[in-house]
Amino acid sequence: MAIAAERPKPVLLPQLCKGCGRCIDACPKHCITLGDEINQTSGMIPVVIDLDVCNGCGLCISACPEPYGLTTETYQLEDPADLYGERVRDVPPEPETIPDREIPLPACQPLVLKGNHAAAIGAVLAGCRHVFGYPITPSTEGAELMASFLPKLNGVFLQAVSEVATVNHMYGCGGAGLRCMTFTSSPGFSLMLEGISYLVGSQIPAVFVHVMRGGPGLGNIAPEQADIKLVCRGLGHGNTHAIVLAPTTPQEMLDLTMEAFRLAFEYRNPVVIAADGYLGQMTGRVHLPETMIEPGLPSWAVYGDAAHRGNLNNSILLHEPYLEAHNEMLCEKYDRMIAKEQRANSYQTDEAKILVVSCTTPARMAKGAIERVRREGVPVGLFTPLTLWPFPIQFFKPHLEHAADILVVEASAGQLEDEVRLALSHAGVDGIRIHNLRHMGGVLPQEPEIADRIREVAKEVIR
Ligand code: SF4
Ligand code: SF4
Repeated sequence: MAIAAERPKPVLLPQLCKGCGRCIDACPKHCITLGDEINQTSGMIPVVIDLDVCNGCGLCISACPEPYGLTTETYQLEDPADLYGERVRDVPPEPETIPDREIPLPACQPLVLKGNHAAAIGAVLAGCRHVFGYPITPSTEGAELMASFLPKLNGVFLQAVSEVATVNHMYGCGGAGLRCMTFTSSPGFSLMLEGISYLVGSQIPAVFVHVMRGGPGLGNIAPEQADIKLVCRGLGHGNTHAIVLAPTTPQEMLDLTMEAFRLAFEYRNPVVIAADGYLGQMTGRVHLPETMIEPGLPSWAVYGDAAHRGNLNNSILLHEPYLEAHNEMLCEKYDRMIAKEQRANSYQTDEAKILVVSCTTPARMAKGAIERVRREGVPVGLFTPLTLWPFPIQFFKPHLEHAADILVVEASAGQLEDEVRLALSHAGVDGIRIHNLRHMGGVLPQEPEIADRIREVAKEVIR
């Protein structure tokens, strides 16, 4: 009498199991149950299998959507690396970085563009073909232009159901190594903060054009700078930082958006462009660059080819020492940003005894005021941080050899001043007198009142 061969029983490969539970439903013998431990390699919770009463029917293997989540191989899993190695599948090629390419652009006349449109064009020239967003004034024109551009460029514009959805679309897209961005404004940016923390933790690049408006709450749609605290100190939970670029003109909206993508990929980190409502709407002359970028693909991307599909980008590290080491790595990255990425513009600062510090649109008003009072002989200059984080203290500090009075001109209740004070404190600078001129609620400091405030400060300084 022929004896039926024993049917092979399933082997669970926990690193490849997503815990979807299909095998649980498929098993007529109830051998499989939900697990409760996260697998440190995959970040998923694999099922638990008990083969005591298994008859080897194979239904669980058929139900499993993951290649190799359940298999009939009977080898012992000694080394977790085996799961991705020769025992389970062919050794995948090592993921490699495909470098970006610079492509020359034909010369053209300068364009006249709104700040929001300039940022959109900068993103396209930087190789961004994926834009996610939820419309919000005063940033919407950027998304609107992208919605018309990208389908013609083989790209994707997706109007998400919310800002929370937007940032999570960016998480997936950036994780695939693709250049993605959004245009948003203050209430929308608030909603994205949790996702930004995930992006930072998982080291996913993404660019946020944040056109600040009046707050708190719904506030209004006029320009403000009251999210400086948020972009510099409050990017979601945990140990987070991102380079924050602060343009002052439509030209800088384009240039700094291009730069934002380079920085986002160099550091594998989100980058924020902090503009304001006027700057988004303001029209100005914009020169296009001489080259544009054809993006490559980073080695870490979770891309759908054989080499990259084994990559994993996530922010969960349950073992405390691993998470501490991860945070130490992030801190080391932040230190590199602080050392290399400070940027600022200075105007009439040589030998100035008073330094006006101002950014985005108020910096333009301040410049006009400085021109006025300079004609009256007041030794005043303008320092404009182009990076709000890291604050460009390395360019600021030398001016303090001849200026002991700072006038911070801003459209917030002292958030820029707080950054200045913090930077001075960290740099060990004291003895500086800090004056201010502030507005809120969408009211911007105007040129005549800035000039008057400079004169007041000058009376105290130059006796
Ligand atoms: S082989 Fe059949 S009996 Fe065994 S665990 Fe899978 S579904 Fe259950
Ligand atoms: S069907 Fe496959 S992936 Fe889903 S829980 Fe079962 S083994 Fe895991």
